[in-house]
Amino acid sequence: LALTLDPADWAEIRAVGHRMVDDIVDVLEGLRDQPVWRPVPDEARERLRQPLPTEAIGPAAAYDEYRRYVQPYARGNNHPRFWGWVNGSALPLGILADLLASSMNPSVAAFENAASLVEEQVLGWLKEMLGFPTNVGALLTSGCSMSTIIGLAVARNVHAGADIRRLGVAGIPRRLALYASTEAHASVEKAVELLGIGRESLRRIPVDTDYRIDLGELERHIVADRRAGLRPIAVVANAGTVNTGAIDDLDGIATMCSEHGLWMHVDGAFGALAWLVAGMRPSLAGLQRADSLAFDLHKWLYLPYDVGCVFVADQASQRATFAKSSDYLNLMERSGRPATNFGDLGIELSRRFRALKVWLCLKEHGVDGFARQIAQNIAQARRLGERIDEAEHLRLMAPVGLNVVCFRFEVEGLDEEKLEGLNEQILSEIWSSGLAGLSDTRLRGRFVLRVANTNHRTRGEDFELLVEAVERIGTDLVRGGAGGATRIPPPGQEGARRSS
Ligand SMILES: *Cc1c(COP(=O)(O)O)cnc(C)c1O
Repeated sequence: LALTLDPADWAEIRAVGHRMVDDIVDVLEGLRDQPVWRPVPDEARERLRQPLPTEAIGPAAAYDEYRRYVQPYARGNNHPRFWGWVNGSALPLGILADLLASSMNPSVAAFENAASLVEEQVLGWLKEMLGFPTNVGALLTSGCSMSTIIGLAVARNVHAGADIRRLGVAGIPRRLALYASTEAHASVEKAVELLGIGRESLRRIPVDTDYRIDLGELERHIVADRRAGLRPIAVVANAGTVNTGAIDDLDGIATMCSEHGLWMHVDGAFGALAWLVAGMRPSLAGLQRADSLAFDLHKWLYLPYDVGCVFVADQASQRATFAKSSDYLNLMERSGRPATNFGDLGIELSRRFRALKVWLCLKEHGVDGFARQIAQNIAQARRLGERIDEAEHLRLMAPVGLNVVCFRFEVEGLDEEKLEGLNEQILSEIWSSGLAGLSDTRLRGRFVLRVANTNHRTRGEDFELLVEAVERIGTDLVRGGAGGATRIPPPGQEGARRSS
């Protein structure tokens, strides 16, 4: 008999699979009664550092290790009281969809197959949802960072004044300049660095009191750079900043871009989805004038990681940036049945079937279901803002225009440094108690606690618990003397202070 890695006993893998589905549903159903987060205990940490396995243990034993050492120590973002950074809360059907997608196991590139048609259909739906024309170039990606790299790569190639694909950035005659507010996400800077343009060429423009880009300053910088011999190429507008959820004046930026011949890229990671809520459309006016738009579906469409999307208004330029033909891919082109070659629209060739979870969940809830859910998140954030305003020792630190609430505990007589220590400690205690997951950031240099509500499981009472807990912990700390305790870092990425 030839070797294979398929199970010797199909009944066993079937049983493991059934258990997995049962466990997934049990965990989701019971989340509210669990702590949001718990530290990884030493035993699990130990298990997760064991050397490369050489001997087979079979699927049931392998799954058991997952159940014991991995599953209980999640980041916490599926929990009803998690509002840290900007994280998704996962739709149950989306979770199962990823299982189905892996079972079909297509590489969604070219070549006629239903997975490609599903992605085409989903991209068409997303364009319709956000009010974009059907002919824009579109692609599902691993997330907004990748979408921004793709959008800005096209911007660079269109506006650099050189054949970048042939000559590279060395062929660019004049130094390029791009513009974004001081509130723009780190992924914008990363994209500019990776594209060989260099961080210094990303001009950071000051914001107004609502954390929106100052249009007067923006224009002044563009004109000054051009006078100084630079080549301004693009403005990156925010539709929902990571710090406060601020939405730049998209219409104003679009007009300025067309007057100055610049590309307009919009980072709408979560904020773009607020377009589904009729009452938010005036704040997002001009969104559809973007030359490129990057947004996530794993944040405010509640899908499991990872899935993002990019639109490029001029699809021909997108193809001109990425398309390649290769002898070994000829069959895909020759098959005579037209299918989008997604590899021509972005960086990846082998791509997983991300579209399936979008497709299934849009059918499951309908776009109206998502619109209502997003509207609820916004209303909850506004109510939390009001609650903070009413509370004796809490202070709202930025306007609540979308779903992000920045606040802190304050008592009279404490200087800035003491207030920071106190709020850091409150944050740390909230995490270690498992009561809620929130994060922190700095606004105009001041340390603030931050809630970003992209959670479809949150109820009003959950925010009530948060407000009570912050007030209680803060008051106790002040009474007992703040400072001294070590801060327990929240789970996740390096740099727990950085919003993602
Ligand atoms: C999350 C986020 C990003 C990065 O998106 P990823 O999906 O993490 O790559 C970019 N911009 C904003 C405003 C974000 O919130």
